[in-house]
Amino acid sequence: CPKPLFSLNLMSKSKCGNVDDHTLTSSLFDYHRFDHQLLQSIAYDSLVWASLHGLLVGHKSIQNSGTVPGVGLVHAPFALLPNPFPEIHWKQACHLAPLFNELVDRVSLDGKFLQESLSRTKKVDEFTSRLLDIHSKMLEINKKEDIRLGLHRSDYMLDEQTNSLLQIELNTISSSFAGLSSLVSKLHRNTLSHYGKLLELDSERVPANNSVNLFVEALAKAWSEYNNPRAVIMFIVQAVERNMYDQHFLSVYLRERYPFCVGYWTKKKNVELSNMISKEKMLYNTHHITTIRKTLAEVDQEGELLPDGTLAVGGQAIAVIYFRAGYTPADFPSESEWRARLLMEQSSAIKCPSISYHLVGTKKIQQELAKPNVLERFLENKDDIAKLRECFAGLWSLDDSDIARKAIERPELYVMKPQREGGGNNIYGDAVRETLQKLQKAGSQEDAAYILMQRIFPTTSAAILMRDGCWHKDHAISELGIYGTYLRNKDKVIMNNQSGYLMRTKVSSSDEGGVAAGFAVLDSVYLT
Ligand code: ADP
Ligand code: MG
Ligand code: MG
Repeated sequence: CPKPLFSLNLMSKSKCGNVDDHTLTSSLFDYHRFDHQLLQSIAYDSLVWASLHGLLVGHKSIQNSGTVPGVGLVHAPFALLPNPFPEIHWKQACHLAPLFNELVDRVSLDGKFLQESLSRTKKVDEFTSRLLDIHSKMLEINKKEDIRLGLHRSDYMLDEQTNSLLQIELNTISSSFAGLSSLVSKLHRNTLSHYGKLLELDSERVPANNSVNLFVEALAKAWSEYNNPRAVIMFIVQAVERNMYDQHFLSVYLRERYPFCVGYWTKKKNVELSNMISKEKMLYNTHHITTIRKTLAEVDQEGELLPDGTLAVGGQAIAVIYFRAGYTPADFPSESEWRARLLMEQSSAIKCPSISYHLVGTKKIQQELAKPNVLERFLENKDDIAKLRECFAGLWSLDDSDIARKAIERPELYVMKPQREGGGNNIYGDAVRETLQKLQKAGSQEDAAYILMQRIFPTTSAAILMRDGCWHKDHAISELGIYGTYLRNKDKVIMNNQSGYLMRTKVSSSDEGGVAAGFAVLDSVYLT
């Protein structure tokens, strides 16, 4: 396991010599070439840094680690060194964030579009059907959400063959890791500030990542728009949450004085591509906002709707409801949780997300939005539409028999996705063929539970993955998530920003992603 650095004889000779042009350009990022002792030393320092700065999760094997803070801590899985990513695609992804925010808002207002697009899915997917029932009830009573808050994350992979940035999905509920991903970028900058010379890497090529501050700012602004100084922000959480520190960063920063890093871009002399080099300036901010944490079942027991529409939970008025649970059927084990979800939607509290925003983030809506002429229903600006469309991968409904036939012939080129969140739900490879054939035989409507998506094949990189205090070298692929924050009050858009990023890296042999689901590690970007 990792050790502090004692010797400076650092490069392994075996892989450095005799390289052709291609490996010369990529060899900078061939992290596997580094000497064992150097990596041991970086790993040791990184583990110390992670422990001291709160880059932490609860450990699986320790029983209370998902319920009692401070018990059974382990560092979050992370990549030892940042992942090379082309600056041009990085900028592209950043520029898309406000466009997707606006798109979500527009689509959320078209109740008919949401109901119709999901009508076949509703028949076969109980979870989606329950969400749609709540949505229908809100349409019936003509419920309006004047103040709308979105904390989104749009995820992308860089397709190697076409060299294009393609969207994996858009998350509108529980977009996680805004807290921890900020830390990973800081960790990598710190690592490169110490070891950069040896590694020939520049810490300033890791873009500053202020996702935690920017989520806090958005939640705080939403709270102040609600305009009840006594009201609190309620986090809806799972009863057992090993990723609780990611959430606690937000609640602590909402309450206490906290360092607010402002990233800005500077020009560095004599270096091309330099306008994305970022510096940080430290400011401080305090909101004094109280947050409470409740499970859906607790909201059912303690919540009530006051005559003026205020949601009170345990006697406390709620300004903002921030969902870090409620995205998976497992969060609704009984009617109690569904009652709570409905109660919250009926209230005047700002929901992040509202039921409409939640539905806009489903895979089925992603697929519907990718159909010809659909974006045009929601957006006017042709450039914006073209930019959004450029990042859409192939997406198909299964009632398209032509695509089902193609996917049965070449299942490795597709991913089959149900209407689920949280990782670990998709179908890949031969299982795509088997599932499609089974669905065809059954001849039922079950196919409406899924969409088909073009499988994206990103470039493989040489990564070093840290898990449970040990590192290992592996071939890996990465997924870039760009956070977006959106807040509006009636006609006034108060906030519509790109708000930091999350890089996740996983071994290339794994189909699924997801850090919490155990497939990927947290990473950051090294601009190339
Ligand atoms: P979830 O909402 O559960 O996170 P995703 O659509 O993000 O669902 O899929 C989970 C993971 O599966 C992604 O993080 C990614 O690693 C992988 N994945 C999803 N879609 C594709 C695709 N089209 N090509 C390659 N990998 C994919
Ligand atoms: Mg998702
Ligand atoms: Mg995902």
